Amino acid sequence: MEIQNEEKVEKKSLNFIEQKIVADLAEGKNGGRLQTRFPPEPNGYLHIGHAKAIALDFGVAKKYGGTCNLRFDDTNPTKEETEYIESIEHDIKWLGYQWDNVYYASDYFQELWDFAVWLIKQGRAYIDEQSAEQIAVQKGTTTKAGTNSPFRDRPVEENLRLFEFMNSGQAVPGSMVLRAKIDMAHTNMLFRDPLMYRVMNIPHLRTGDKWNAYPMYDFTHGQSDYLEGVTHSLCTLEFVEHRALYDLFVDWMKEYKGDTTPMDDNRPRQTEFNKLNLSYILLSKRNLLALVNEGIVNAWDDPRMPTISGFRRRGYSPEAINKFIDKIGYTTYDALNEMALMESAVRDDLNTRAIRVSAVLDPVKVVLTNYPEGRTEELEAVNNPENEADGTHNVQFSREIWIEREDFQEEAEKKFMRLAPGKEVRLKNAYIIKCDEEHPCDKDAEGNITTIYCTYDPETRSGMPGANRKIKGKTLHWVNCKDAVKAEVRLYGRLWKDENPRDEMAAIREAQQCDAVTAMKQMLNPESLKVLTDCYVEPFAAQMPHLSYLQFQRIGYFNVDTDSKPGQPVFNKTVGLKDTWQKK
Ligand code: ATP
Ligand code: MG
Repeated sequence: MEIQNEEKVEKKSLNFIEQKIVADLAEGKNGGRLQTRFPPEPNGYLHIGHAKAIALDFGVAKKYGGTCNLRFDDTNPTKEETEYIESIEHDIKWLGYQWDNVYYASDYFQELWDFAVWLIKQGRAYIDEQSAEQIAVQKGTTTKAGTNSPFRDRPVEENLRLFEFMNSGQAVPGSMVLRAKIDMAHTNMLFRDPLMYRVMNIPHLRTGDKWNAYPMYDFTHGQSDYLEGVTHSLCTLEFVEHRALYDLFVDWMKEYKGDTTPMDDNRPRQTEFNKLNLSYILLSKRNLLALVNEGIVNAWDDPRMPTISGFRRRGYSPEAINKFIDKIGYTTYDALNEMALMESAVRDDLNTRAIRVSAVLDPVKVVLTNYPEGRTEELEAVNNPENEADGTHNVQFSREIWIEREDFQEEAEKKFMRLAPGKEVRLKNAYIIKCDEEHPCDKDAEGNITTIYCTYDPETRSGMPGANRKIKGKTLHWVNCKDAVKAEVRLYGRLWKDENPRDEMAAIREAQQCDAVTAMKQMLNPESLKVLTDCYVEPFAAQMPHLSYLQFQRIGYFNVDTDSKPGQPVFNKTVGLKDTWQKK
């Protein structure tokens, strides 16, 4: 009884794909093997949606003792670049996953070609010389059967000759395509003689000038899975309708290969799950590429980008991303996940990871009038109260320090617990100071405060007898003027104004009949980036290596930007200490 219950609990906590895998393995399908693949097209950088697919493809393989390969789906030479291949490999590894093999769909171009020739000889494929528009019109609708192409029954010899011609470099793109001869009245529109090959006289990254006829996605993906021995082909929901065609082409390929294993064994099975869709985030590489090309963002790794590289530069850790992906899970229906959930995962993770440092973003000077000129003390600061092993570092303290402008009010509101004339505050890791009542500050001609005057209580440094003296005021962060390092700090807001930019873009394009870029330009939040150039950080923060995880005390989590140079640090704000995304 007990055990049965436990089994039930275990089964319930598995997502529907894992349940299917467990059942398939138990039934001994595919000889009890599990093999998955992650199949990106190298036409852009990976985004957070891909992390969801990666975690599943690599995750289940690892969990159930299978293998997972990386396969570049490189069937469209117009958009593919080596830079993308390299970035994809880098990002997968950074997320903590390792593939067993790297394959390319282009590895199968010859095999697919031979298979297509076989299908032509079988009378199951033909060259259609109609225009794309004619083909579309003849396709019919969901309620009306399509009509046959006039080229549908041309002789095999002619088809073979024209197929060769398609690949010769002489054929004009769009002048002819190879189509599967299935059924122009089929209820599944994808079965109405789907395209198998098109002409593109464009050199390919890996196969060079060898091919001018390229296979379509539907004629490539399932066969690639089959040839590699993939058992579970996991993809997103928009492929549900493609599954029957996927299966048909695999059946045909098995026949072509003389694979006599029972049809239902030894074959890849496609299962679909919901795409990641996040509030205030627009995914899809095509849109992200447009942002880069239009200069709307600085690069693929702009910290406002929802790319893996953008999130990395923003300061999200791979652990935080994986934890978030794990939390949202896999389903069979579309949903919009809250960005706040992602940020809360990041915040939880950085709380245990980030090194605490002091930084003042909007500095104003404080002079401690009773502190001896020329004296400097070394104080100890804890690096991470969540992890003792991270140790401590020293900070210098002397007569002049920077504090945040907003931490002082000359005429303090009643509830203001920070620095004000006659009021006391504690300086983090240092002393209690009191603001002068007679002459609290100096101002410039415009009335801006330039200097604040305080005295310090020499008995109140931590470890001293007066250290625990209770005061009403808060503890403020500060940076020592003498050794402070000037820093640039970049603050980020949402890139988009609308909560659901995907739907918003579709609505604008529909209403204005405009292209994606025109729509996107109207959707941008004008305050997505704010650059502060007059900040000060303690020297310990300034020498941190690129991509270090930091907490600027009392402000938020920050990351060392890759633009940082020795003596000229640049920081990105990762996320605030508290949730600011919640709806008002
Ligand atoms: P995009 O439209 O952003 O270019 P894609 O689906 O064309 O995405 P591919 O490189 O073809 O990108 O995708 C590789 C894998 O990642 C596919 O299995 C795809 O289903 C998956 N994937 C892409 N976007 C998402 C997403 N938002 N959520 C989950 N998986 C995704
Ligand atoms: Mg794509």
